[in-house]
Amino acid sequence: MFDTILRHGTVVDPLTGTRPADLGIRGGRVAAILAPGTPATAGEVIDVRGRHLFPGLIEPHTHIGFLNPFAADVVSETASAAIGGVTTVFSFHRHYQSAAPKPYDDFPDLVAAISAGAHVDMAIHLGMLTESQTRDIERYLDWGVSSFKFYMAYRGEDGKTVGMINEIDDGIMVDAFAVLGRHPHAVACVHCENTDIIARRVRTAKAAGGADLAAWNAARPAFAEAEHVRRAGYFAAVAGCNLYYVHIGAAASLEEAIREKARGGRVTIETCPHYLTLTEDSSLGPLAKVNPPVRARADLERIWEGLLAGDIETVGTDHCAMPRARKAGDIWQAAPGFPGMATLLAVMLDEGHHRRGMALDHIARVLSYNAARRFNLLPRKGTLQPGADADIAVVDLALARRVEARALHSSADFSLQEGQTLRGWPVMTLLRGKVVARDGRLVGRAGEGRYLGR
Ligand SMILES: [Zn+2]
Repeated sequence: MFDTILRHGTVVDPLTGTRPADLGIRGGRVAAILAPGTPATAGEVIDVRGRHLFPGLIEPHTHIGFLNPFAADVVSETASAAIGGVTTVFSFHRHYQSAAPKPYDDFPDLVAAISAGAHVDMAIHLGMLTESQTRDIERYLDWGVSSFKFYMAYRGEDGKTVGMINEIDDGIMVDAFAVLGRHPHAVACVHCENTDIIARRVRTAKAAGGADLAAWNAARPAFAEAEHVRRAGYFAAVAGCNLYYVHIGAAASLEEAIREKARGGRVTIETCPHYLTLTEDSSLGPLAKVNPPVRARADLERIWEGLLAGDIETVGTDHCAMPRARKAGDIWQAAPGFPGMATLLAVMLDEGHHRRGMALDHIARVLSYNAARRFNLLPRKGTLQPGADADIAVVDLALARRVEARALHSSADFSLQEGQTLRGWPVMTLLRGKVVARDGRLVGRAGEGRYLGR
């Protein structure tokens, strides 16, 4: 009666918790959660004894096509996703920085590239860099894009450091928020960093002679992020739109974001694995350069506290297929960004579950369910309830494996976890009922993933 049955596993349901069960799949969807050993016939029986079944991860924050052509990045980076138990990848799409930002008339090409090359499903957030793009928001909503990213950073001098042309000011942004406010399912994602403060602090931090991660943290200080968290929250409240704070890694920013929630803002807070594992004292140096920077130890501990308390609802990696060569030189010369999708689940299991006691169903919420809810993929994604797509990460909680970047399939030739032994890994990934990765090897083929309109 099933196409596939996963026998003798432990289902980790984001809403109802963790329990031993058999899971039946039919037509690419979860058909039933059964008591262990319930008699059933199936075309294929997979024994998952001793394994935990998580809903496939939904990675809310990547930059596919940032350095490499979009179509090529889709193939390599969704392969890396599959290895890591990620079955839905959101990419913050924007026209490549060196070109003048223009309307997203090439959107059908993106969908075609995903259909042709993706190993897992993909959805798109669109970056809003010009006023003319914000005027097209209604058209983008018709395409199934319901989330938009605004960069409060990267204007003027600060923008030149990453080659970005960004004409969004507070006036344009708040008008765009008002458009989004008319659509209950639409979301404004905001990169909060005060670009004027940063432009000056970069100069003073450089002049002070520092060239390490601490200097980078000083150049893009936490208070400059926290101030914009407050400002974006106020604008979103005025406009009545949903707000998603990307990559919050500083205590000061988290406090402001929590305050916006308490005021009744429709606010979601995201953090990233690097803010949960790295500080400005890390010996990784420029490899860990990212915007916003990794912060101090007290920030890291506060972010964990916010995550465990439920204030922070999603964890995304800010994954970018950055080759190590772009990390050459000192902190001022190296490019910001790094890969992270393939190790996301292992980092959260190792550091979150094993070391800090984070419950498995809570991990399933922050890595899957909450993103599905915020970005309009429920009930199709984010759960293992009957009817949902059978996207499943089969996990061996006890497996200890040393991270080797070349085994992770990203075109990035390094990993922030390189050489570390992490405990807890996905050992099988199913996309709509089909095994796409097994024992750290890719077994699916390019083109099995789909574009997800929302
Ligand atoms: Zn990002």
